[in-house]
Amino acid sequence: MHCGVAPPREVTGDLHLAGLAEQSFARRGDYPSLWFEGEWHTSGRLFERSTRIAAGLAELGVEPGDRVVVTMANCPDVGVIYNALWRAGAVVTPATFLLPVEDLRHVIADSGARAVLSTPEFLAKVTEAAAGLEHVRWLICTGDPAPDVVALATLEAAAPGRVAARADDDLAALLYTGGTTGRAKGVMLSHRNLHFSGHAAYAAGHLEGVNRALTTLPLSHSYGLLVTLAAMHSPERPVSVLLRWFDPAMFLALVEEHRLQLSAVVPSMLQLLLAQPLEQHDLSSLRYLTSGGAPLAPEVEHEFCRRVPSASIRQGYGLTETAALISTNPPGGVKAGSVGLPVPGTEIRILDDRGRAVAPGEPGEICCRSPGVMAGYWRAPESTAEALSDGWLRTGDVGYVDEDGYLFVVDRKKDLIIRGGFNVYPRDVEDALVEHPAVQMAAVVGEPDAIHGEEVVAFVALRPGAAATARELIDWSRARIGGYRYPRRVHILDSIPVTPVGKIDRKALRPRAVR
Ligand code: AMP
Repeated sequence: MHCGVAPPREVTGDLHLAGLAEQSFARRGDYPSLWFEGEWHTSGRLFERSTRIAAGLAELGVEPGDRVVVTMANCPDVGVIYNALWRAGAVVTPATFLLPVEDLRHVIADSGARAVLSTPEFLAKVTEAAAGLEHVRWLICTGDPAPDVVALATLEAAAPGRVAARADDDLAALLYTGGTTGRAKGVMLSHRNLHFSGHAAYAAGHLEGVNRALTTLPLSHSYGLLVTLAAMHSPERPVSVLLRWFDPAMFLALVEEHRLQLSAVVPSMLQLLLAQPLEQHDLSSLRYLTSGGAPLAPEVEHEFCRRVPSASIRQGYGLTETAALISTNPPGGVKAGSVGLPVPGTEIRILDDRGRAVAPGEPGEICCRSPGVMAGYWRAPESTAEALSDGWLRTGDVGYVDEDGYLFVVDRKKDLIIRGGFNVYPRDVEDALVEHPAVQMAAVVGEPDAIHGEEVVAFVALRPGAAATARELIDWSRARIGGYRYPRRVHILDSIPVTPVGKIDRKALRPRAVR
């Protein structure tokens, strides 16, 4: 692996992501491909912009292997900029715009970024985050030029140039993840990693004629990136309606207005959609939703499919460390509750605590090997050695594979609560709570406890207009999941905190569980 620091080579690999973008454009030609906030953008214009910006970046001095941090809310510029960076041979280093300034500084400093690209609303934060970091040569911003900042429009004035040579194993993206213990780590993904997972997601999930998508995941997260890359492999002319960020009412209005057929979501989005008057919208165009990133409660899946009968839900599973993909439910082969079959090219093993393979149906740590698995964490050999050996990645998730080869995710290993010697998976308790008709969302964490070691504590948000007391929810859970697992305390909140990609944020709730 030549991680960003390798000198530019004369070889352009077959899996170069900018080459993929060229091939997609050559195949499909110019057509209205992207809708954003009332405006259509054509594939030709988007592609041309990226070729010009790539040339402008090279003229500015951005070199192959340079890390460039991109911190923007979803908008058409994000895809244009990613492709421009790949054309210039640079390493796309996304940082969600929701990051506080010190976390953004960590990404900029740790990656050794030479440039940071942003939009006017985040420029003050970016300037503060990059202050004094000598490796940062340029701040680049959309909109009107500001002093000491390069305007994206200036770069776009350059004449289109060629794709910079990169080998397949050169770094294409550095995605910061984790941070539950210590600082976020940069996951090194090569052109090969991302090309593989994009193609695998497309091959496993593409249905002819189903190509009108709503894109609401943040493009700064591996899942959003995966969905975008998968669409580049489609032989058809896919259309994407892009949301700046997830908004349930807007989601429904846009599906209805544009007759959208598919969308990729995280489970909390489905839970928020269920609180909407779904029946008042014509959602009959919706064929399927892919759900990933976090456990999907069976109740949420059933209710959504009951209320939107045209749609089915296909769960998939992956980590940033696997370029977002390990398994998915193929259309026509969906198994409820499962995250599907390993995508072709991916091997899965379920290992016990001593590293031995367990029998089908037995839970253990999910380990995976595939061309999508990262080369390691950026400048963190110890963390890399803990996560990877012989190309096998330890996911840190507990799961099992059934007799048919379908994978089921139980929960994250580190979120396991051990109460009085019994294992309690927060997910089981959360699933039981969301079965209660008044509960919209639930998050369960362990609290240190002098008697039992840990105690099970739940946080719930109720559906709009619904009522339930903590006592009632405790009794409900006890009746469903029995004596040792039910939550001894339930806190009712206005809303459950979620991470930037929309996953329930148990980490943020843990301190609130302590009495
Ligand atoms: P990230 O790197 O942010 O994408 O987080 C990856 C983690 O999300 C995995 O290790 C799992 O714990 C969780 N995850 C992803 N997909 C699923 C899924 N379908 N069901 C349950 N957990 C999931």
